[in-house]
Amino acid sequence: MEQVQLNSNVFTILEDKIKMIKKGNEVIYLVGPIKLPVNLDGKTVEFKWYSWLKSDRETKDFQRVIDQLTSLNLAEYQQSSVLVYGDFEYGENALIRMHSICHTGDIFGSKRCDCGFQLKQSMKMVSEHGVGAVFYLANHEGRGIGLFNKAIAYLLQENGYDTVEANEELGFTDDLRNYDEAIEVLKALRAKPVTLITNNPKKLKALKEAGLPVIGRTPLWGDISEYNEKYLQTKIRKSEHMA
Ligand SMILES: [Zn+2]
Repeated sequence: MEQVQLNSNVFTILEDKIKMIKKGNEVIYLVGPIKLPVNLDGKTVEFKWYSWLKSDRETKDFQRVIDQLTSLNLAEYQQSSVLVYGDFEYGENALIRMHSICHTGDIFGSKRCDCGFQLKQSMKMVSEHGVGAVFYLANHEGRGIGLFNKAIAYLLQENGYDTVEANEELGFTDDLRNYDEAIEVLKALRAKPVTLITNNPKKLKALKEAGLPVIGRTPLWGDISEYNEKYLQTKIRKSEHMA
């Protein structure tokens, strides 16, 4: 592997912007904040953006961190990130959304689910509230089954299976999502209490049990159509989602 020797200017730029978070035998390298102006319904809203990478190699030597990056083929894997708004470290009552990646909903605007709507809406809610963060969780596609399996599950859904049944037919438990990394990142960015934007009381409970300082929940429904009616009903009926 070719070693890239960091010049002192590059080192100075990165030094305060890469943080190492320790968790058991693993570490999370968090990079940011990075200015990210976003177009929200024609209005420019400035978020601060962070991305993170989990690793089993612990080092505070940036030269070693950078040396590893060229050989990791990171484009082959999705990384998670978080958009932060306002005085996130010290601001009172931050609104938090833990958004699971949805290739079809977030990128293509698919109406088979409500993810694209929820993503944009939660970004708006956070910026209007004044303090908050939207976590974008990359290993959560199809409730954690992956994009290719989601495509197969969609075919089953086109033939009468609901979301939960389709995943179970393919040998997956209904919900494989894990929030551990996001919680560690949140704790590194903020120690004060948060209100979670979710319709899912199970998620609220899981996050509280994992040590997240959650004091409340704000629901998020909308964009209901003939295409996602059954999907949303299944969320309420089988996954105990509520308004
Ligand atoms: Zn979706």
